[in-house]
Amino acid sequence: MEKFIKILKEKIKNINFNTQKCKRCLMDETASGISFSENGCNYCEEFLKIYEILTKNKPNLDDLKERIIRSKPINSKYDCIVGISGGIDSSYTLAKVKEIGLNPLAVHMDNGWNSELATNNIKKLISSLNVDLYTHVIQWDEYRDLMQAFFDADVIDIELLYDNAALAVCYQQAQKYGLKFILAGTNTSTEGFRMPENWNWYKFDKKNILSISKRNNVKIKTFPTIGTIDLVFFYKFKRIKWFNFLDYLENYNKFEAISILQDKYNFKPYPYKHYESIFTRFYQGFILITKFGIDKRKNHLSSLILTNQMEKKEALEILKEIPYPSEKDLVEDIEFFLKKMKWKEKELEEYLQRPPKKHSTYGTEINIRNFFKKIQKIFPLPL
Ligand SMILES: [Zn+2]
Repeated sequence: MEKFIKILKEKIKNINFNTQKCKRCLMDETASGISFSENGCNYCEEFLKIYEILTKNKPNLDDLKERIIRSKPINSKYDCIVGISGGIDSSYTLAKVKEIGLNPLAVHMDNGWNSELATNNIKKLISSLNVDLYTHVIQWDEYRDLMQAFFDADVIDIELLYDNAALAVCYQQAQKYGLKFILAGTNTSTEGFRMPENWNWYKFDKKNILSISKRNNVKIKTFPTIGTIDLVFFYKFKRIKWFNFLDYLENYNKFEAISILQDKYNFKPYPYKHYESIFTRFYQGFILITKFGIDKRKNHLSSLILTNQMEKKEALEILKEIPYPSEKDLVEDIEFFLKKMKWKEKELEEYLQRPPKKHSTYGTEINIRNFFKKIQKIFPLPL
């Protein structure tokens, strides 16, 4: 286990401090297409522009509520869908949606990696808010085979599996109940910083998932997927819309959200972003850094710096450390991961040594995405 800790520490030093950095935010040369200017970089400049527009023209929460209530089908118990992961942003969204008088159906996708903390947080929240929860459970053997296929393919975005399935379940449930609004904990003030193209992959790339799983002969039975054409169907024909709900709130602040959730719902906070899933934290805190040379904390922390939720000095100190509360916590996650994936240490070592491959090595719908991006003025899609 010592060797894995050593690899992680060395890599952090290399990718976080031996690279040219932006003067204002934390982005650096590990982000594709970055260009530095006197005061900043194209990533933070773009973020500030979007953030300014959003602060000046705050979308109106009352209007949104009105529209949601008006869209409610007769005889339906619910008026909207709220996707929840167990994380801070989505939990706070659910609490707020209920507080303003809406009747959401909470939708959760269980891929077998929920931390116990997250499971308890979801339970506490659902019962105190008195909302219904639909949980889609993917059979673990099937999900493990899919993950194995992604590891064997050496592609960067292993979380494409979770993210795509979670999107699919939200849209499917909205369709089932005739609901037009999906409210999500995605937001500009803590997440609006654009993810560099080389840091993840297109989340509606169903073809990529199917193509990679086919290489390992994985039979898909309980794994829900959504592709670009499915999205066109839901968005254009079923008129189901996705909303970054937290953008509708006055000054959404992560730290305030945590303390409200703690006080009102006995919520237990997580040490870092996305630590509601054991795999997500192991992926972001270890695999992405060691195999792919990407530290997503730069992106998350940059948005906190630019929205004055954190000092840059403090963020730089965080970037020096491993993304785990302690080395012991990391070792526990490695052991848990190996056991759950049925891997030996050697397999993890070999995986880390193999060079990464592009998602586009396999079947992909990225060209369809690019086409819709090009015509987004006349045919907008939430890509
Ligand atoms: Zn910058």
